[in-house]
Amino acid sequence: MRKVYMTILILILVLSMVLLVAGCGARHGSEQGDDVTVSGDNVQVGDEQQSGEGDDPLIEGEEPPVSGDGEDEPLPPEDEMVEPPAGTDTPTVQTTVWPGDLNDDPDAPSKGDDRSAKGIPDVIETRVADDGDLLVLVNKYYTVSMDYEPTDMVTIDNKYGTYTDMEMKADAYEAYKKLYDAAKAEGFDLKLCSTMRSYNTQKTLYNNSLANRGRETTNVRSAYPGRSEHHTGLALDVTSANMGWGLSQEFINYPDGQWINDHCHEYGFIVRYPKGKTDITGYAYEPWHLRYVGIDVATYIMANDLTLEEYLGKVPPQ
Ligand SMILES: [Zn+2]
Repeated sequence: MRKVYMTILILILVLSMVLLVAGCGARHGSEQGDDVTVSGDNVQVGDEQQSGEGDDPLIEGEEPPVSGDGEDEPLPPEDEMVEPPAGTDTPTVQTTVWPGDLNDDPDAPSKGDDRSAKGIPDVIETRVADDGDLLVLVNKYYTVSMDYEPTDMVTIDNKYGTYTDMEMKADAYEAYKKLYDAAKAEGFDLKLCSTMRSYNTQKTLYNNSLANRGRETTNVRSAYPGRSEHHTGLALDVTSANMGWGLSQEFINYPDGQWINDHCHEYGFIVRYPKGKTDITGYAYEPWHLRYVGIDVATYIMANDLTLEEYLGKVPPQ
């Protein structure tokens, strides 16, 4: 009997162990299930890790600050965008033909059919205020309004002029004094016979020329009012005893005229209407007419045989 009990007990134990092992296996299986879940969690963790890599995205998310720096880049342009409007508060140019141009000027001569650079072409742009730009372009296409007033004007010492109380821009005057002294040291006695000219002065000159020389010659010799760079205070006409204190293309054939042609750039001046450039400048050769642009630009222009129009990339339509 004891054997029977022992056998039953062993069977019970074995059965229990089997059940226990089976239970463990089942539990283990569910742990695997958990593992799946966990591995699912791992996937999620993986996702999180990706979103952790997504920390890179997060860092990228922090990149917004970086792209915020990028936004700072847009900001300067915005700042720059702010400036033009600030500039436009005091506009210096207008793109429409100014009142007082040929069409509205009762005293204007007929412009005839010649609207080329040698005639009286239509205006591209009109400057109504001086913004201090030493490279301001004034020609038959780029004009100044009747009431345009150059800033920083000074009355020059009478010893420099053929008449009294002549005016020009302070920068140009300082430069001219140096040119004058250098010429004097070479034995040349120069005088200025024209500096700044107002709209009305130019109008008188133009109309006198028209009466004496006719329109065709006048248009390559004299600027229509509002289209003369003398209006800017940066242009001047130089003469000498050789010229009878007047103006002539012969100036270049005299030592003083040649000296000016060779050395004016050293003082910031260019010969504004060079020989052979009438199609660009609109005017015949004027060895006497100097324009102040500053030493660097003047040196470049003279060394490369350019006009101001070419230097500025504003060659008129041919
Ligand atoms: Zn001149």
